[in-house]
Amino acid sequence: MTNSDIISNAPISSEELQQAAQIITALQEELKTYIAQGSGPFLAAIYDDKGTLIAKAANSVVKGKCSHKHAEMNAIKQAEEKLNTFDLAPYNLRLYVTAEPCLMCLGGIMWSGIKTVYFGVPSKRVEEITGFDEGFKPSWLEEFNKRGIRVYGNLAPQIGEDILTFYVKNGHPIYKPSR
Ligand SMILES: [Zn+2]
Repeated sequence: MTNSDIISNAPISSEELQQAAQIITALQEELKTYIAQGSGPFLAAIYDDKGTLIAKAANSVVKGKCSHKHAEMNAIKQAEEKLNTFDLAPYNLRLYVTAEPCLMCLGGIMWSGIKTVYFGVPSKRVEEITGFDEGFKPSWLEEFNKRGIRVYGNLAPQIGEDILTFYVKNGHPIYKPSR
């Protein structure tokens, strides 16, 4: 992977980029187990700046009968409960997620105080592969930058696309409101 492949709003060292891609790859591999247990095809993890895992959660919209239960929202809730706070900013936390956050999760991330976001498959590819609606997005990279949130995406996208394809081919639910 080279820096030119990534979607970003701030500089990054090749060491940090490589480490993030490794974590995203590991999450993609782990995601298969979650899918087998009825989760949606997205997994998020939150680490502190020392590399300690604070929270990890998959999408549980169908299982949990709740449209808000995206992986990012579940992981943020878990982290806030664990740290007993509504403001994660003082903890300098990093969110890793297997696909680009949707419209709702952009808001969830912004109001949580998460400082850095790394993601796998870009929304456009998620929509093309699965038919999920990722929402109408503002120019969020710039808006996140203004708020001091670094973003790096399109990390190890191939393995992520393969898992989304696997999810669809195996007839797992593409949940969205009826229209
Ligand atoms: Zn979402």
